[in-house]
Amino acid sequence: MKTRFRTSFLFLAVLLLLPACLVSGGTESPVRFLFFPLIAFLSLYFSSRALHLAGLAFTVLFPLMYLFTPPAPIHLTVVFAEIAAFFLCTLVAGFVSGRIRQERFRYDNAIATFHSLSDALNHKNMNLQTALDALSEAHKKLQEFDKTKTEFVSNVSHELRTPLSSIRSYSEILLNYDDIESVTQREFLQTINSESERMSRFVTEVLDLIRIESGKQEISFSSVRSEELLTESEKIIRPMAMEKGLELVLEKTEVLPDVRGERNQLIQVLVNLLNNAVKFTRSGSIKLGARAREGFVEFFVSDTGEGIFPEEQELIFQPFARIAEHGTNRPKGSGLGLSISKGIVEFHGGRIWVDSELGKGSSFFFTVPEATKSTSGFEHSELDMRNPVMVSYRPILVVTHDIVSRRCLRKKLEEVGFHTLGADTAARALDIMGKMRPGLIVTELPEDWEEFEVLIQWAREAGTRILLTTLHIHAGEEPALAVHGYVSKPFDKYEILSLLESYHVQGGPVIIISPDRDESRTLQVILGAAGFDSVLFHDGSSAVAACEASCPSAIFIGSFRKEALEEIFTGIKSSHRSGNVPIYQLLGTTLNRYVTPVTLSPAGRKAEPRSLYKLVGKIEKEFSKGLE
Ligand code: ADP
Repeated sequence: MKTRFRTSFLFLAVLLLLPACLVSGGTESPVRFLFFPLIAFLSLYFSSRALHLAGLAFTVLFPLMYLFTPPAPIHLTVVFAEIAAFFLCTLVAGFVSGRIRQERFRYDNAIATFHSLSDALNHKNMNLQTALDALSEAHKKLQEFDKTKTEFVSNVSHELRTPLSSIRSYSEILLNYDDIESVTQREFLQTINSESERMSRFVTEVLDLIRIESGKQEISFSSVRSEELLTESEKIIRPMAMEKGLELVLEKTEVLPDVRGERNQLIQVLVNLLNNAVKFTRSGSIKLGARAREGFVEFFVSDTGEGIFPEEQELIFQPFARIAEHGTNRPKGSGLGLSISKGIVEFHGGRIWVDSELGKGSSFFFTVPEATKSTSGFEHSELDMRNPVMVSYRPILVVTHDIVSRRCLRKKLEEVGFHTLGADTAARALDIMGKMRPGLIVTELPEDWEEFEVLIQWAREAGTRILLTTLHIHAGEEPALAVHGYVSKPFDKYEILSLLESYHVQGGPVIIISPDRDESRTLQVILGAAGFDSVLFHDGSSAVAACEASCPSAIFIGSFRKEALEEIFTGIKSSHRSGNVPIYQLLGTTLNRYVTPVTLSPAGRKAEPRSLYKLVGKIEKEFSKGLE
């Protein structure tokens, strides 16, 4: 705008020089000698086509001035030579300024390419950095794992050594000395018996822990009555509490929903917690109870015992963690009970934690998912457990806006033995993940990119993978994968071109449908530079009409609201012209290595009828990766 104004101003100024020339003395005026070099100079300096044309026009008009003040005949040749020289001068200036313009254009293009290359380089650099971070993270984990393994082995050996040495020494005495009194002999044998019992209990606990932590338990879940879990565990612990003079209270609450799990394992958790409560409480009472909470049943065991230091409250769930002795006659244990309980609770899709105040007592809580579908929060698995093929370690969280797609996908996953959970938004998914840790998240594109980024962040921290997918139900069929690829921000020219190439997109117009004008223009420039003609649409209906009328070679779709997106997919997929055209979804964020997109393959361009199976296959693959 500014340049145009400046050029028009100069153009006017040059034209005004003609009357100025006339007024200042006509063709005899020496001003004319300044005039043409001035035009030539301005034309060169600004490389402006308009100035050049003004100069030429003026050269043509200049001889008209001689009509007013005709020159003497002897000067005529000089005048013609002068005009010819001026004309030539203007032409040369125009030619040179044209070349300058061209060079400047090439220079601008080179700068733009340089910027896009530097962006791409930055992008690649970021990816490299992420890969490096991941590598060092993996290395750290491996080192930690190695350390944990060594510690585990030394802890187990240490725990076994004490009972083993007492068994050995007592048995040696019994073997070497015949004159031991029968009462003493009996005492020794009792010690040998109790120590071997302790060893066998410890070995069972270690094996339990290994089995739970490896996640390879083959257990079938069923609907279990929460009240039954409470009364059963209370019955087991009551004699122990009575013996120590402690009051054991089973808190009566509202009617509790059933939970989904393995009865004996859940009783084992409650008994472990109650056992500890009795062990670490000298006087007072122990309370046991449960309440329903947002799709889960939350069990609790609280005591009036010694309490736990705040810094040790996390630590006690680690294997072999025992708090430093506060007193000489503090009860001894293997330090495995809580880590086994944690493993069992997480296996059931719940969470365990402690709330404790030193000297006042501790309250342990754990959650187990309800057996029936919850009304608030999220849905639980409706797996038919009468005939489970396999029950996997952690549940798969399916996040889709559309309930039909969600149900279908969950049903398919449960048919092959997975335990699933469902949520309709990223916010709900985050809510669920606050309570438990899914093994894998399968999600559709979110409407809110910020929430999605939090989801990615969560997955990164928890080391859980996210499978990104777009499902669409076409003409009453079952849901199917809807897109062939994703383009994340910032747009990378080479990534986009290789995506198009892998789907054999050549020539033909490309349709860009996006409500975001900047986004679509940037994409149009990138595609234009690669020789693709593109047509922009900012709303779905006109784009669908264009797809009907012409046959696009590819379609890029931006971030629309779910309903609008559904309409676009329906329009595109039902048109015989665009039904098989590759569709690429533009993303409002950058993906990292925790997010794996699942898309239609190039081979599936013609028709990938039951593509939900492809998704299930991919999920199985990803899930088994997680278990390795
Ligand atoms: P242990 O077999 O030693 O009881 P656990 O894993 O069950 O192993 O417990 C780990 C440690 O946590 C215990 O040694 C004890 O120091 C602490 N602890 C567990 N429950 C309680 C409790 N109710 N009150 C105080 N400390 C507890």
